[in-house]
Amino acid sequence: GKAVRLDKFLADSGAGTRTEVKKLIQKGMVQVNGETAKKPELKVDPERDVVEFGGERLGARAEFVYYLLHKPAGYVSATEDIREKTVLELVPKDGRRNLFPVGRLDKDTEGLLLITDDGQLAHQLLSPKKHVDKTYFAVTEGKVVPEDIEKIRVGVDIGDQELTLPGKLEILKSWEENPEQGVASGKDCEGKNVKGDSETMTAKANNEEYKADVEKSSWRSEILLTIQEGRFHQVKRMMEAVGKKVIYLKRISMGSLTLPDDLPKGQARELTPGELAALR
Ligand code: URA
Repeated sequence: GKAVRLDKFLADSGAGTRTEVKKLIQKGMVQVNGETAKKPELKVDPERDVVEFGGERLGARAEFVYYLLHKPAGYVSATEDIREKTVLELVPKDGRRNLFPVGRLDKDTEGLLLITDDGQLAHQLLSPKKHVDKTYFAVTEGKVVPEDIEKIRVGVDIGDQELTLPGKLEILKSWEENPEQGVASGKDCEGKNVKGDSETMTAKANNEEYKADVEKSSWRSEILLTIQEGRFHQVKRMMEAVGKKVIYLKRISMGSLTLPDDLPKGQARELTPGELAALR
C-alpha cells in the first residue's frame, strides 16, 4: 500500500477539511492502530493501518465514485462551460476528483446520466463496439405509425456516412392535440370512412389543401426508442428521418441502469453496489 499523511487520509475519508482534521488530531480524537495519534504528518498506510475517529474505523477512500443523475433540461453535459449551467453542478462537489458525464444528453434532454471519474467504465459504456442499449421516452409532433417501427428496425439515413444501427421503436399512444382546430388529419386517413379506400387516400394525398393540413397536423405520439449508438442528436435525427419532430426527450435507461422513479429531477445519488456490479 501507499503511505499518506494522517491529516490527508482523514480529510480524504470525509472527516473534515485539512484544518479541521488537524484540530481533531491535536485534541487526541484520532487513533492509529489503537494508539492516540498526535501528529498530522504521521504516515499511515490505508490498507494496513487501522485509523479510528470517534470510535469508528475510517475506510480508505473509494477508488472511484459513481453518481446517477436525473438530469433536468437547461444543463449542458460538459465539465465546464462559460455561460451554461453544467451537469457537474448537480453532483456533490469534490475538487480532488475529475468527474465527468458518461456521454452526452442535449441541453433540452432530461433523464438518466451517469457521472463518474472511472474512465474505464465510461469507455466500456460508450464504445460503439459494445452496443450498450439506451432507451429514450419521447413525445413527437406528428403521428408515429407502424411503418416507422419497421424503418427504424432496419436502420435509417440521418445524413451520416452510415445508416444507424437498428433501433427498437415502440408506440405508447397517439392523440390529437386540438381536435377542433383545422381539418388536419391523420384522422381522415384512419377514420372508418376512408380506411382501406386507397382511391380516396390517393386523391387526398394529391390534394394540396390536404397536404397543408398534414403539415399542420396536431397529432402527437409518445414513444420509446432504444438505440445502441450515441451519435449527435441521434434520437431527434432518427425520428426526423421518419418525418416526426421530437418535442420532449428523456433517457430512461442505459445498459442495466434505469432511472429510478423516486429520484427527483435535478437530484443525484450514488449507484448502489448492485447497480454498479450489474453495469460492469
Ligand atoms: N438523442 C438526442 O437526440 N438527444 C439526446 O440528448 C440523446 C439522444
